[in-house]
Amino acid sequence: MKALRSSAAEMRLVGGRLCLDFVNTVDGRNDSVPLGDKLAVYSDLVAWSQHSGIVTAAQAARLIKESKQKTAAANSVLHRAIALREALHRIFKATVTESVPQSSDLETVNDELLKARKNEKLISTDKGFTWEWAAEDTALDRMLWRVAQSAAEFLSTGDLSRLRECGGEQCGWLFEDTSRNRTRQWCHMQDCGNLAKVRRFRTRLRSSSKTKRRRVTR
Ligand SMILES: [Zn+2]
Repeated sequence: MKALRSSAAEMRLVGGRLCLDFVNTVDGRNDSVPLGDKLAVYSDLVAWSQHSGIVTAAQAARLIKESKQKTAAANSVLHRAIALREALHRIFKATVTESVPQSSDLETVNDELLKARKNEKLISTDKGFTWEWAAEDTALDRMLWRVAQSAAEFLSTGDLSRLRECGGEQCGWLFEDTSRNRTRQWCHMQDCGNLAKVRRFRTRLRSSSKTKRRRVTR
C-alpha cells in the first residue's frame, strides 16, 4: 500500500519525540490556538501514524478498512486524539513557561495511558522478555497508546529543560533541543528560520514600512 494522501503524511517530523511530533500536527498556532489542523479526518491520523513509523503500511490499510465499517468509532478516536493533542500541548507549554499544568489535562493523558497499559502484555522471546501489544491490528486507537506512552516517558524521565517552542511567528511547534549548546531556536531552519531571516532583512531595509506577513506552508 502506498502512503495515504494527507498533509499529515508529509509534515516534517522535527519534534525529536513522537509525542512532540503529534502535538505538531497543526499548521501553526496563534496564542496556542491551532491554525489549520492536519488531523481533519480519521484517515489523517492513520496517515500520520504510518508517516511516523508507529504503524506499518499493512496495519494502516487494515485500520482504514476497519474505520470505514465503524465510522462512529473512528470519529470518536479522532476526537480523543485531538483532545489528547491539545491537553499535551497545554502541559508542554506549561512546562516551557514554568507554570503549573491543569489537572484536567493530566487526567486526559492518564485516561489514554490507562487504555494503552490495558493493551500491553509481557511476552518471552529468544532474547528475553519484552512488551507487546495484546490487541488486534484493527484496534482503531492503537496509535494513541504509543503517543500517550511517549508523552509519559518524556514527562517522567526526559530532560524537560530541553523542551522548546519554535520562535517562528504563528508557528508554535514544539521540539526537544538536543543541540550541544542548547541554542536551537526553530522547528526547522528552512521554514521558520529562513522566514525570520527574511523578516529581519526586510525590517533592516524598510524599518518604517510594514512588511506583509507570511505564514509557513508545510
Ligand atoms: Zn517553526
